[in-house]
Amino acid sequence: MTKINQNYTELQGSYLFSEIAKRRTKFMQENPDAQIISLGIGDVTLGLPQAVVDAMHGAVDELAQSGSFRGYGPEQGYDFLINAIIEGDYKSRGIELNANEVFVSDGSKCDVGNIQEIFSQDAVVAVQDPVYPVYVDTNVMAGRSGKFNKETNQYENIVYLPSSAENLFKPSLPSRRADLIYLCYPNNPTGMTLTKEELKHWVDYAKANNSIILYDSAYEAFIREDDVPHSIYEIEGAKEVAIEFRSFSKTAGFTGVRCAYTVVPRELKALDENGNIIIVNDLWNRRHTTKFNGVSYVTQRGAAAIYSPEGKAQIAEILDYYMTNAAIIRDGLQSIGLEVFGGVNAPYIWLKTPQGLDSWSFFDKLLSEAHIVGTPGVGFGQSGQGYFRLTAFGSRENTEKAVERIRKLSL
Ligand code: PLP
Repeated sequence: MTKINQNYTELQGSYLFSEIAKRRTKFMQENPDAQIISLGIGDVTLGLPQAVVDAMHGAVDELAQSGSFRGYGPEQGYDFLINAIIEGDYKSRGIELNANEVFVSDGSKCDVGNIQEIFSQDAVVAVQDPVYPVYVDTNVMAGRSGKFNKETNQYENIVYLPSSAENLFKPSLPSRRADLIYLCYPNNPTGMTLTKEELKHWVDYAKANNSIILYDSAYEAFIREDDVPHSIYEIEGAKEVAIEFRSFSKTAGFTGVRCAYTVVPRELKALDENGNIIIVNDLWNRRHTTKFNGVSYVTQRGAAAIYSPEGKAQIAEILDYYMTNAAIIRDGLQSIGLEVFGGVNAPYIWLKTPQGLDSWSFFDKLLSEAHIVGTPGVGFGQSGQGYFRLTAFGSRENTEKAVERIRKLSL
């Protein structure tokens, strides 16, 4: 019989969300009248901004006529969107990019998952712990992870960078040299950020060690504080060592529409096995144009509308709505003495579980006593044990109700 890719057998089951669903279903069966509120979802709930909707309607009308119809577009994205991205997200912050350095895609999940493909099989990979699981699993599939150790809850060849309250979720530099370093800021799940000075340490490390930073900035739009960098390219020299990922998913309600982009600067170089210098951008361009056929015209018109004056104003309102939810959760939990992180520059609130409870025990307590579903921190990695994630993506009404219920618990 045909053999499978053996690396896939090293993947651990997606235990986290199936286990959450299982416990929730069981509770609902036993307590059919309970009004459960979910603050566990990592998905947005408000509708698309009107400017996006109008642009998409207009684009559909264009496609309806053979005179303005468009078929396959450029795999890397249409110029109108790439130029809007460069102007709106980079030039406005003093960062110069060329159009051939931006690759539009149907989501950051695919991009952060696919990027490892262009690097060597024996590249050493470092990830923050807790971590967005896609970085790890895609490297497991590629055969870079080694075996999973059930005792440590970690893969033996992956370099984990522990983040906890002790280091304010700002992990130390890797203890052994890493080729690829996944950094996610603002962070999912902790909601924490780095200052420019702190991010510079990573850029300096990457330069000194010839490493490449894979900088996932899917939550950039939620940054509120002035000293938090919006792009890794705000750090001098970062173009030589970093690839940046951005998504419209949480910024503009595109989780279902699907659009994101990746920046691969021309300055970024790596070696082939003969020691020749390779421009990483060329490699990614080859990969992208071979395996991807472009984001739909309608979607790209919608995404470009985010950068119009109306689009910007509408997005600001939506983001404010979610960040007000975040403040309500933060303030409510702090008022009852809980130790709370994140929620200032990110839609995630990361709390230390009270009474020394482990993440799953706190999940059960919150579900059974307050009828609230959240996400156990240990599901994002061993360093998440004893923490819990709540999200700001719910409705205002449910967020307020949930906080009121938590305040009434004896914690
Ligand atoms: N990166 C991080 C850290 C995320 O949390 C998510 C989505 O939850 C993504 C990437 C994926 O985003 P997209 O919807 O663009 O695929």
